[in-house]
Amino acid sequence: MFRSTQSKYPLVSYKDAVLNCLPGDGGLYVPDQAADFRQYFLHMDEKTSFNELVAAIAPSLLEGGLNPVSSLRVVESAYNFKPELIELDDGFFILNLYNGPTGVFKDFGIAFMSAMFEEFMKDGGQAMILAAARPDTGVSMAHAFSGRKGISLVLLYPSGQIRGLDPSSFVQNGGNIIPIQVKGTFDDCQRLVIETINDREFSERYNITSANTINPGRLFPQIFYYLYAFNQVKNRLNGDLIFSVPSGNFGNLIAGLYAWKFGMPVNGFIAAMNSNNAMGDYIQGKPFVPKNLIFTNSPALDVAVPINYDRLASFYDEAPAVMRNMVYQASVNDVLTLETMEYVYKKYNAYIDPHTAVAFAAARKIEAERKWKGNTNTIVLATGHPARSANLAEKATGKAIKTPEFLKELWKKCDPIALIPPQLDAFEGAIVSCF
Ligand SMILES: *Cc1c(COP(=O)(O)O)cnc(C)c1O
Repeated sequence: MFRSTQSKYPLVSYKDAVLNCLPGDGGLYVPDQAADFRQYFLHMDEKTSFNELVAAIAPSLLEGGLNPVSSLRVVESAYNFKPELIELDDGFFILNLYNGPTGVFKDFGIAFMSAMFEEFMKDGGQAMILAAARPDTGVSMAHAFSGRKGISLVLLYPSGQIRGLDPSSFVQNGGNIIPIQVKGTFDDCQRLVIETINDREFSERYNITSANTINPGRLFPQIFYYLYAFNQVKNRLNGDLIFSVPSGNFGNLIAGLYAWKFGMPVNGFIAAMNSNNAMGDYIQGKPFVPKNLIFTNSPALDVAVPINYDRLASFYDEAPAVMRNMVYQASVNDVLTLETMEYVYKKYNAYIDPHTAVAFAAARKIEAERKWKGNTNTIVLATGHPARSANLAEKATGKAIKTPEFLKELWKKCDPIALIPPQLDAFEGAIVSCF
């Protein structure tokens, strides 16, 4: 069962939390009790496939939402890609999470969520999903939701950012995707999503929910790749295990914390930030004071106030001392980011993207400070395909990187089906006119 970060009651089922993703009190949904995955680990090792693992574990994580049969259906419909763990050095691993259709780790949560929505609608329901979109997550969501029965997806883009969508999937061409451009910023889009959901009459009429990580349906499937990585390494671990996670809105790190809370034996996490590092103070036990946004070369980490702040805070409120021993923070500037991309290329003959470089450099920093005594195994989460930042990769390494065709498609410009001012009535009017 799930509850709001703001109160212990009411409890709602996972399905209800997904379909109705904002509690009325301004909080965010979090699990009320801990699941326990340990029983499953006994049956899993490095030969267990990602889909086998997800199909087995999802019913216990998403109790009441999926059963063993529907779980298998959802997994097979969600994933034709998987994480890939690579050992670069003795005990130093990189977990490639960019093998999905749009080259970012967010494909994992979004693909599972879209397949699960379709499963929830299979008895004839209709739902509308709203999402504030940036170019990359927009494509990822459109890709995952396109053609799903019983669902329409409304993507709100800030000015000038629509790219890579397939017009044949748009609602006026018989599809189910509705891209709308807002004359405003990403924050305006995010605010419009929340205002629309909180307009209860309107959101009930269209059965509206959101596909941003405020929705637990997208955040919790991100647990699966942590468990997969753990099962890949557990039989050869010699010493501690830590994950280094490039963190912007902190959805990825929080998924890791839940994996731990639900039984994955891990010794620590590194919250790796670029120069937007205000959360670092919070992690060290000081109050969170937002700082002005700085634009860096790892833009997905350019976040002033993480949207998942309340979820992270709920961990610290419960057990502050435990959290201080569990989560470490490091901040990596643009210069070190580029140097790290160069270092990895020279030492391992591999490209990494700038977000991954932030996590890589953070892991090296923390190791150098000897926060962990004894032997440490480190898994760095590689969140973005290196060719998504081809210019930067070339600048760092001196060698041009080859961009796969499917990534080139993602940068093609396209038109919205409506252009609106950043106001609730304009947005609701645009939705109504589609039906
Ligand atoms: C979104 C994103 C991140 C940050 O993930 P959060 O869950 O927001 O912390 C890191 N790297 C890449 C490539 C991303 O797209």
